Order: sequence, then structure tokens, then C-alpha cells
Amino acid sequence: MNRVVIIGGGAAGCFCAAELARLRPDLRVSVFEAAARPMMKLAVTGGGRCNITNSFERVSSLAEVYPRGDKLMKRLLHSFGPADCLRWFEEHGVRFVTQPDGCVFPASQDAMQIVHTLERAMCDAGVQLFCGRKVTAVDKDLTVHYTDASDHRPADSALPNASVKPGASVMPGLTGHLTRPDAVIVTTGGATAAKLLAGTGIELIPDVPSLFTLKIADSGLSSLMGTVVENVALGLAGTRFRSHGTLLLTDWGVSGPATLRLSSYAARWLAENQYHGSLLVNWMDSAEAPVRERLSAMSEGLRTVSNSHPSELSDRLWKMLVERAGIRADARWSELGSKGLSRLVNILTADTYEITGRARFKEEFVTCGGVSLAEVRPDTLESRGIPGLFFAGEVLDIDAVTGGFNLQAAWSTAWTVAHAINV
Ligand SMILES: Cc1cc2nc3c(=O)[nH]c(=O)nc-3n(C[C@H](O)[C@H](O)[C@H](O)COP(=O)(O)OP(=O)(O)OC[C@H]3O[C@@H](n4cnc5c(N)ncnc54)[C@H](O)[C@@H]3O)c2cc1C
Repeated sequence: MNRVVIIGGGAAGCFCAAELARLRPDLRVSVFEAAARPMMKLAVTGGGRCNITNSFERVSSLAEVYPRGDKLMKRLLHSFGPADCLRWFEEHGVRFVTQPDGCVFPASQDAMQIVHTLERAMCDAGVQLFCGRKVTAVDKDLTVHYTDASDHRPADSALPNASVKPGASVMPGLTGHLTRPDAVIVTTGGATAAKLLAGTGIELIPDVPSLFTLKIADSGLSSLMGTVVENVALGLAGTRFRSHGTLLLTDWGVSGPATLRLSSYAARWLAENQYHGSLLVNWMDSAEAPVRERLSAMSEGLRTVSNSHPSELSDRLWKMLVERAGIRADARWSELGSKGLSRLVNILTADTYEITGRARFKEEFVTCGGVSLAEVRPDTLESRGIPGLFFAGEVLDIDAVTGGFNLQAAWSTAWTVAHAINV
């Protein structure tokens, strides 16, 4: 019987295992998972609700949501897209709800339902799951080196069998610490691939974090903590990185969808610049001329500048922006003059803040980097140089903004590999 070893029992590894074992009952499919339980990250996705995919209805270009890997994802989504993903899980008894923003969650609002569904699918298809088994290296000839949790315990202590699902068993002939299956699928997620693949000569793009919030030097913003501003444009001065959407002001700086998107687009640039730079904020996501026109219309009245403002900006935010423009709190619109108006327009459309670091977003982050896409065949995700070696999930240099796109990449890449195995 031909054997396939999947390294990593996360979202991609377990989905790939279930689908491959279902398609190919003639194969012995094993998952080697370093942790005591599989899919521990999947269990906490979406704040425990699991944003499993996205409808993609509000996505105008894939590059917008996949800053790295958009071209490959275009091809893979064609074979296994969000509708296919939902159908697969629906056939396994899961029901879904789609939010107005396109994010899809299980109707149960419980990520554990997705974990249990995959566990059951693996078990039904006869997948062998080895928890506490950490792979230390993969060789060019597909030899897999590993250690077991039991290796680190006294000889008479029990194997961590409680974590192994029914249907799993110790693979006959696997008593040593290496095995040479007919195909190896690497699905180890973001962090450990470089060490694991060191002997293969495969090119890895260095990992850097993506999806984080930005710390801002104290500039008055922290006094507005909790303020949400819709339809803002953000940018990094001296670069072409721009993002649009909702901005949340926090006690440390800025957060919200617009910030997370910017952090994703500029992940590598920000890492190279030690998370320092100038953040450009266009508070009305508008060109200068229309803003000037709106303010000019307001300036006909006798009201004070700080007490009348464009409706989309809150009172407190407006007062802070007026102060930043160097305008007296009691100044009237009619007193502003063209210089004062220009300063205000400039603050509204090209405000600048100093970035002093990065902060994590609710413990959620994704790494950008991993196995270079030039290393794999786009239709099978098999290594170009090492036949029989495949990759799926976050270990590949594909990553996305928030919204279910990262898990969709895990499902699409895993499905592609499951259907490409030809041993
Ligand atoms: C808190 C949080 C919330 C998130 N929420 C969402 C969301 O709602 N929607 C979304 O689309 N994305 C979300 N993401 C991103 C998403 O979880 C990942 O994109 C996805 O889990 C990647 O799946 P993966 O299988 O490639 O990697 P992982 O899920 O990281 O799985 C890799 C597995 O490999 C194992 N492993 C690693 N090295 C070895 C080794 N040497 N030997 C054996 N096993 C090994 C790990 O223990 C792990 O179980 C979230 C991420 C985080 C951190």
C-alpha cells in the first residue's frame, strides 16, 4: 500500500487528509502533528466563531485581498472556490451564515464545529493521526525525520493516546524516527518551515508578520480612543501602499480594517523599516478639490469652525483636527481666510502621524513569506525540483487580509494537493 505523510495537522493538513483519504482509499494517509491536538489554531479562528471563507462578492480584484499569491489563488479558486468549500462542509452537515460584508461563519457560530467535522471526516476515511509527533527534517529523497512526545517522557509513561482520534493507530513499521513515504505534503503553517526544509534546497521567502495594528507617537489621537471613522484612506509616506475603509482609534494608535489592510499590503516594507514611518491619513477619503468646495460652502456662515463640521466626522475628532490645523477654537468660518482654509483642507486630506511600532490584532496575525511560489507547480503545488513533495496552506508564500480569505487559501491549496497526488 502506498503511503502519504502529511506534516502538520492544522486546517490545511486535516482538510487535505480527509479529502485525499476519501478519494484514494487505496492509500495509507497519515498526519504527523507536533501539538497534543490537531487544529488548535482553527479552533480559535474568528474569535472562536471561525470566519471560514468569504463570498468574494465585494472583492473587485484578488490582489486587494491576497497581497501575496493573488495570481495562484485566481487559478486555485477556479478549481475550489468559496462555494465549493461551503458545499463540502454542508455535505458534512454544517450550515452557514453570510454577513453583509461577505464574511461566512458556521450558523452555530462555533469554530469547534468545523474542527469536529474535519476530525470526523478524517476518521471516517481512515486517516491515521499522530499527535505529539514533531517532524524535524525532510530530505530530498522524501525521508521524514521526526520525534514523538513519548521520546521526551520516562520509558514507562503512557503515549498521549487521549489526543488521538478513533481510527488512528500507530503505523506499522514506524517504530524508528524516520520514514520514507511515497509522497510528503508539508502543511506546517507559517513558522517552522525554514528549519524543516533546510536540507531540500527549496527557496523560502523569509517570514514576517502581517495583520497588525500600528502604534502612533502621542499626537492627541489617544484622547479619541474608541472613535470609529468610516471611509478613511490610509497610506505610508514615500510608498505606494494605500488602504481604504474603517479606522478605529485606540489608546496606542490606530486599528480597524483600514489599518489591518495597510499592514498586510506593506508587511515587508514595515518589517524592513523596523515598523517606523509616516502614516498618511485622508480623513474623508476624498481628493482635495471636493473637500475645499465643501468647506468653502460652510465658510459662508457666521458659525465657529469648531462647532460646524462635515457630518461624517465626529465632534471630538473635528475639534482635534481644527486644533491640528492651527485654528483657534472660537474662530468663525468667515475669519478663516484662504490660508486657514488650505491648512484645514490639508489636515483633512493629508494628515501625517509618526508610526513608532506594531501591535498585535486580538492575538490574530498571519505570517507573510514561506515556500516561494516559484518552487511549486501551480496546478498541483508539487515541488518542481523534488517530485512527490507537496505544499498546502500558510507554509506557501500566500497570505490575505482578514475576512475568511486566509482559510479559503488553506482549503483551496489543500484540495488541489489532495486531487494531485498520483502515487
Ligand atoms: C487567532 C487567529 C485567528 C484567525 N482567524 C481567522 C479567520 O477567522 N479566518 C481566516 O480566514 N483566517 C484566520 N486566521 C488565519 C488562519 O488561522 C490560518 O491562515 C490557517 O490556520 C492556516 O492553516 P494551516 O493549516 O496552513 O496552518 P496552521 O493552522 O498553523 O496549522 C499548522 C499545523 O502544523 C503543525 N506543525 C508545525 N510544525 C510542525 C512540525 N515540525 N511537525 C509536525 N507538525 C507541525 C502545527 O502544530 C499546526 O497544527 C486566524 C489566525 C489566528 C492566529
